[in-house]
Amino acid sequence: MPKVYNWQIGREMDYPYEGRYPRWQFAAVFNINRCIGCQTCTMACKSTWTFSKGQEYMFWNNVETKPYGGYPQHWDVKLLRLLDEVHQKEGLTMSWDASQKDGARRPYGVYEGLTVFEAAGKRYTPEGHQRALGYLPTDAEWRFPNIGEDVATPYEGGPFGLSKEGARLPEHKTWFFYLQRICNHCTYPACLAACPRQAIYKRDEDGVVLIDQARCRGYRKCVEACPYKKAMFRPTTRISEKCIACYPRLEGRDPAITPDGVPIETRCMSACVGKIRLQGLVRIGEDGEWVEDRYNPIYFLVKVERVALPLYPQFGTAPNVYYIPPRWVPRAYLRQMFGPGVDEAIERYTAPSRELLAVLQLFRTTQKVIFRYEIIEGEKVFETTIHGKPWAMYNDTVVGYDKNGQEVVRVSVQEPFHVRPPQHWNSI
Ligand code: SF4
Ligand code: SF4
Ligand code: SF4
Repeated sequence: MPKVYNWQIGREMDYPYEGRYPRWQFAAVFNINRCIGCQTCTMACKSTWTFSKGQEYMFWNNVETKPYGGYPQHWDVKLLRLLDEVHQKEGLTMSWDASQKDGARRPYGVYEGLTVFEAAGKRYTPEGHQRALGYLPTDAEWRFPNIGEDVATPYEGGPFGLSKEGARLPEHKTWFFYLQRICNHCTYPACLAACPRQAIYKRDEDGVVLIDQARCRGYRKCVEACPYKKAMFRPTTRISEKCIACYPRLEGRDPAITPDGVPIETRCMSACVGKIRLQGLVRIGEDGEWVEDRYNPIYFLVKVERVALPLYPQFGTAPNVYYIPPRWVPRAYLRQMFGPGVDEAIERYTAPSRELLAVLQLFRTTQKVIFRYEIIEGEKVFETTIHGKPWAMYNDTVVGYDKNGQEVVRVSVQEPFHVRPPQHWNSI
């Protein structure tokens, strides 16, 4: 099997095809700390793309409540269990060597376990060999986009859920959080690897992973192989469908919104009420590495500040949606979900650098994709100590530019204070 380099696991890995990389890659950062679980994103996607017959249970975007929720039900627990079985059989562990961290090329160290591609080579199913370790969910498992909504872990305090100490950060005794999920438009997609019809492809211009509806014959190998279960089967047409990253918007082909033809954010991103999402495009080199682009906000958050992390990087598909992990959740759970970069990411988010605080203001301030930002320094407005260390807040202004280099947003750290004039006091 060919070898490809996966920077998220810090090493080469087996992949059924040679590495072929797009010029630009669709990517996004989701800040879990801010999500209110309103499902506006879910409905924005559903009302745009999956409102037809046979798509009733199809949610290309869903927000699930962790630790108990999942769409399809238990998707991650089931795959982790399958992976664990292979590791146990092989006498291996899904561990990381974080001491081998090395800049942007190996930011989290080296994953020493098996990816879904490597594990598949060591396991045989009754149906034969798989290209990526996976399973086919039952129909019943797709029923709920957020089963177990708001169900927290068992309370570890006193009786009746009352605690004399209360709950405080950094970690709560009882907890849950919302996990926002779309297709990750992976660098090494398992859906693409598994398709026997070669009906799935990754676009050169933006790295978006699509299913060719004319070639697909509905074998459901993509549904089985996608570790994130973001390829879905439509029973009325008997072919598979998935998130298309709203590519007409990425192409800037909606003259009502972008007469100048610049990329705009997807439906689920631009509808986000909690302002938790920032979408971008990152430039990719011929070797598959992100080209250094210091003032691209996604590059800054993922590669420079390392505050946003991939979901289950150990699966090996190199997903391109990155998460700022929730501060209040036990670290062991988060390390399993986002890898060993969790502690550093939370530390940096809790006491953000001056630049990070400014860049965080860009989330959901414009529909246009921001390719570059610039910061205009303002005065110090607040100081305190965080975890015993001094910390100061500056009222900096961050300016975002679109693909053509035009300014599309200008926002300051401190929200401006507007006083409504007397004639408009009760004008609603
Ligand atoms: S998340 Fe799943 S469906 Fe999307 S590109 Fe990755 S493997 Fe394919
Ligand atoms: S990117 Fe577009 S197609 Fe994909 S989940 Fe979001 S709204 Fe749906
Ligand atoms: S719209 Fe935003 S805040 Fe609401 S559930 Fe979706 S990601 Fe969370």
